[in-house]
Amino acid sequence: MSTIKRQLEPVSFTQVNFDGGFWAPRLEVNRTVTIPHIYHQLEATGRISAFDLNFQRPVPSPIVLIFGDSDAAKWIEAASYSLAAHPDPKLRALVDSVADRVIHAQQPDGYLNTHFIVTQPDMRWRNLRDWHELYCAGHLIEGAVAHYQATGERKLLDALCRYADHIDETFGSEPGKKRGYCGHPEIELALVKLYHATQNPRYLKLASYFIDERGQGPNYFDIEARARGEDPAQFWAKTYEYCQAHVPIREQTKVVGHAVRAVYLLSAVTDLAHENKDPTLLETSQRLWNNLVTKRMYLTGGIGAAHNIEGFTQDYDLPDETAYAETCATIGLMLWNHRMLQFSGEGKYADVLERALYNGFLSGVALDGSHFFYENPLASGGHHHREGWFNCPCCPPNIARTLASLGKFFYSTGANDLWVHLYGQGTAKMEVNDGREVSLRQVTKYPWEGYVRLKLDVDTPQRFTLHLRVPEWCEHWRLLVNGEQLSANSTQLSDGYIHLMREWQPGDGVEYNMDMPIRTVWAHPAVRALQGRVALQRGPLVYCLEGVDHGEINLDRIAIDPGRVSNEFKVEHKEDLLGGVTVLRGKGVVVDESGWENTLYRSQPPSSKSMNTTAIPYYAWDNRAPGEMRIWLRAKGI
Ligand SMILES: [Zn+2]
Repeated sequence: MSTIKRQLEPVSFTQVNFDGGFWAPRLEVNRTVTIPHIYHQLEATGRISAFDLNFQRPVPSPIVLIFGDSDAAKWIEAASYSLAAHPDPKLRALVDSVADRVIHAQQPDGYLNTHFIVTQPDMRWRNLRDWHELYCAGHLIEGAVAHYQATGERKLLDALCRYADHIDETFGSEPGKKRGYCGHPEIELALVKLYHATQNPRYLKLASYFIDERGQGPNYFDIEARARGEDPAQFWAKTYEYCQAHVPIREQTKVVGHAVRAVYLLSAVTDLAHENKDPTLLETSQRLWNNLVTKRMYLTGGIGAAHNIEGFTQDYDLPDETAYAETCATIGLMLWNHRMLQFSGEGKYADVLERALYNGFLSGVALDGSHFFYENPLASGGHHHREGWFNCPCCPPNIARTLASLGKFFYSTGANDLWVHLYGQGTAKMEVNDGREVSLRQVTKYPWEGYVRLKLDVDTPQRFTLHLRVPEWCEHWRLLVNGEQLSANSTQLSDGYIHLMREWQPGDGVEYNMDMPIRTVWAHPAVRALQGRVALQRGPLVYCLEGVDHGEINLDRIAIDPGRVSNEFKVEHKEDLLGGVTVLRGKGVVVDESGWENTLYRSQPPSSKSMNTTAIPYYAWDNRAPGEMRIWLRAKGI
């Protein structure tokens, strides 16, 4: 069992600078295209002007949903992270003006939700199950904390403290307070951030209350439904599993319900396990992680198979073409695994984080930075395409805030330790040994190649352990320190990391080379939808076939021979394709329709012929001509 004391401390994204390589151009598109694009969409759909409280036009448009405040809040957060890493006076002025409009909407008692101020003032705090009031508050808090950290300006933070104080006066187990909590978890993790920004323990206590009250009997959602004159049995989702409130979280054994809610809740559970040194919360998080990762997660790090509840169904129910796999859910999965990773540095959490990052998350945004997937299925018949905006636009600003703070996932420090979780070209500044600065530079073409050159800069010799992650997909690696090869048995390796303990000298260099062959991947025999199918993976990237590379051929008719992939498939880097990608080329076979005219069934199998196939990284699909896509391919001879 992991210890309750967190041994790792994440390095802030403000200390991590990407240059060149895979990530820097993407972060630049996020800064220069995605963040402005989202701002314009928020303005065009009334989500920012909502804070001007126009009582003459209480419902400006049906597309301004009840949780529209959260979209603007996530944009404030994304833009603030962008400012923290990249000063920009015009963006600063814009963020400040949006912050002023948010503050302007605040009511004398601290309340701050535009829908319930303008449109339904008599319904304030009367339907926590469905109406996202505390969820919106959570996103506003996260936006305010980010704005404060980026600008040093307290005005928005102070306003959200007043709102959080109001929420604390309204909810709790003390007499006279409502014993409520939000149907959509979010405020819990936001309150932990507010606690860190302000050092006010009141917010930590409120987060703990929300976590522990959730799912207690009698269920609050029943109580408030009756108070509204409704029959709780009429709840559309039929079960409070949908919002993880069917039993208290400490008693839950499977990850259930709406996927985004589940992983936001578990992120907060993990935060509070650390803050409150609470072993049962950590055990809860570990137990639900095991259920998710061994039975309910897609190969891409997508989660949530079902459209109707945007969430989980049964163990091993992972159909590819109908997968929901919302981008926000994969982001939540990354947030949760990043938190779990900090307890003791177990590589399995970084493995899930990396799987999600390069596949189910990155597919959420087009290469142009202004089109997005809400759902990320693992196969498409040709009708699933990214869009510039959605009626429910939770995903685009969530992508923007994740990319703008991407560096936070890469490194951690410990007492005498420096951890490298992810590989990508750039430089990070960290502190070890009571504040001694270490600068670490990675030069690498990762994820296209597994070779990483690390250069450590210390002012004076420093003794600490450098932990380098060995990804779960990597079976063979070589390591040189200052040009000298370290053999595998002279190297400490545990929990998915190489541990290099030595006295590091100024300018020391490490060369780390992870073998990155093409791998064939199979699903557990209980996953009915994927039997007889195989997927291609290389390094952290899951690959897919796309229609545009295969003419008129229906992709589901193509089979590959898994036994011949390592010999017959070739790796080819194409700098002019899809922003620069490594493709996999090899032979497949395709069944054809010859002799099937006017025949539906017959005794002879269809004939097949050999063909050339090209697989591209899954994240890059749907950036060319629209068409089919497929990750899980028929396995020849199975
Ligand atoms: Zn979303």
